[in-house]
Amino acid sequence: MIILVGTYLLNIPFKLHAQENSFNEVFENIATLEDYKLADKKLTALLKSESLTPLQHSSVLQAVAKNSSSQGDIQLALEQAKTSLIFAQKHNLKKIEAEANKLVGAFSYYKGDHNAAIDAYEKSLQYYKGFSLSIKAANLYNNIALAYAGLGEFNQALENYEIANKIYQEFGSDVDKIDIRLNIAGLYIQLSRFNTAIETLLDVLEKYEALNINAQNSIALAKSHLASAYSQSGNLELAELYTFESMDYFLHTNETYYVANLLCNLSLLNLRRYDFTKAIEYAVKGKEFSKKHSRQSTYTTCTLNLSLGLYANGDNIKAGILLKEARELAKKYGYKETLNYIRAFSGLFLASNGNPSLAFKENLDYIQKQDERLSSSLNEQLTNFESKLLKQKIDALETQKFLQNKREQDKILITILVISFIFILSFFIYRYVRVQQVKKTLLKMVQLRTNELEIANEKLTELSLIDGLTTLHNRRSFDLDLFSQWENVEKSKSCLLLLADIDYFKKYNDNYGHVAGDEALKRVALTMAAHVRKDDKVYRYGGEEFAIIFANHDLSSAKVTFDRIHEEIKKLQIEHKGSEYGIISLSAGICQSSENIDSVQQLIELADMRLYEAKSNGRNILVSNQLEEVRF
Ligand code: GH3
Ligand code: MG
Ligand code: MG
Repeated sequence: MIILVGTYLLNIPFKLHAQENSFNEVFENIATLEDYKLADKKLTALLKSESLTPLQHSSVLQAVAKNSSSQGDIQLALEQAKTSLIFAQKHNLKKIEAEANKLVGAFSYYKGDHNAAIDAYEKSLQYYKGFSLSIKAANLYNNIALAYAGLGEFNQALENYEIANKIYQEFGSDVDKIDIRLNIAGLYIQLSRFNTAIETLLDVLEKYEALNINAQNSIALAKSHLASAYSQSGNLELAELYTFESMDYFLHTNETYYVANLLCNLSLLNLRRYDFTKAIEYAVKGKEFSKKHSRQSTYTTCTLNLSLGLYANGDNIKAGILLKEARELAKKYGYKETLNYIRAFSGLFLASNGNPSLAFKENLDYIQKQDERLSSSLNEQLTNFESKLLKQKIDALETQKFLQNKREQDKILITILVISFIFILSFFIYRYVRVQQVKKTLLKMVQLRTNELEIANEKLTELSLIDGLTTLHNRRSFDLDLFSQWENVEKSKSCLLLLADIDYFKKYNDNYGHVAGDEALKRVALTMAAHVRKDDKVYRYGGEEFAIIFANHDLSSAKVTFDRIHEEIKKLQIEHKGSEYGIISLSAGICQSSENIDSVQQLIELADMRLYEAKSNGRNILVSNQLEEVRF
């Protein structure tokens, strides 16, 4: 039977103290060496160092033992592990003692001394049992189960597997969970449940391959199990295929102690094929390899196979000797399983050697043991175990399915959320852009309207200050301008105002009609506007009355300006029969702010008074402060 102690061997912890840094470094460097011989030398040198603490010393001792095992010398490894055990006991190092017991167990198992292995494992377990449900305890239960299975003690094997499995399922790594199934598959093979074994092993292989770790060793072991299951269920071709695949790997990695077992399987396979020569060949090789690596159980099976091959080939004598040898070994080490096969073959051998009664006894014994082996209680136990495993598998699948569903639901939810978010975001972006666009358009419109309004307002203001008939500035404009001029007066500027009135205009209307009156009004107005200076302003004060606000004038220059206006109006020669002058003429009064005047009102009143004076003095004249009358 093949065991899985390889991985566990590498897991022995070396707890060292902090002050031992240099020791740690040296020790770890040795542990990584691939050259086992060199490692051996270095470890031996290290052991001689006097500065080692007992803990360090025992760690080195165990490393030495493991190194020997790696080189295939199991016997030496076992002895060294025992030395380490004694040392740990002597120094009362409990944990190291437990580790040493585990090593003793493993090497005893390798050797095929399953009883010794169980004994050592149990001792180690006493220490680890203290830590409830520890993986280390699970590993020990697993190894104990393997040893029981090797002895053909299936009930105990199952019990221990169950405990180990329970811990692994709850606390173990993925690899632990697969490893134990591989071992249990081995048990199925021993119990002739080949189909279950094959099914389990194929699944195990798939799982190892799916793992993201280097599981080549475990895969090779699984293949060797598979080969055994196929071989015993009659599928010799697949059996051979898997045997060679597994063997290639172990030859490649130089783990020849596994090769011994595979050679033994090949000899059995060829016996089943009736190719006895090949069966003998493989059995001989198997014996050699197992002897080299002290693998007693394999050696015993190979001896039995060789005996069978020789018997089938007609060499009864040699077959008999080897059968006896196999029997003694099986008895010595307690290989019940092998012993029973020996019984069966022994019956055959005795019968053909003329001893039918003894042959009959052996055969009956074989049948009885076989019945015991596959007893109903064991079967029931195994079935229960299988159903438990199946339930675990279903539970795991359901959990996986649940998680997958949840993941999918989460995915859908996230997708919905993301889409909704994008949608909402797009909506807001769209709205923002749209609002900005509308705002811009509105702003433009408002700007446009404001501009239009401003223009309209300006126009309105302008219109409100213009006289419709004459297009001169109107009375309102006059009031505003005069008021602002007056403000400047207060800032010591002078303000000159002239009021003019068309003479006898009522009569003009009467004589020529209103339309002609309007026309005459217009002409007088335009003439006035055309002949003032650039900054002077002419207003229609009301009816046929006009006003001029002079800018930057003194009185004399204002008079000059008005003279010019008078002259131009005269030039118009607008006939006016009703006037003593025969043409349209103007009377006017002028005054200035400097004439001791306090208000706008007073200024207007004075100008008006002078205009009245002009009228009273015969019209067609301008009256100023100097009582000067300009007659035209
Ligand atoms: P005076 O020389 O004393 O100023 O005599 P007057 O007839 O000009 O004075 P009065 O105040 O008696 O009459 C003014 C006339 O001016 C009366 C009115 O018919 C006329 N008038 C006032 N505004 C207009 C106007 O817009 N168009 C026309 N055609 N006539 C107007
Ligand atoms: Mg008048
Ligand atoms: Mg008049």
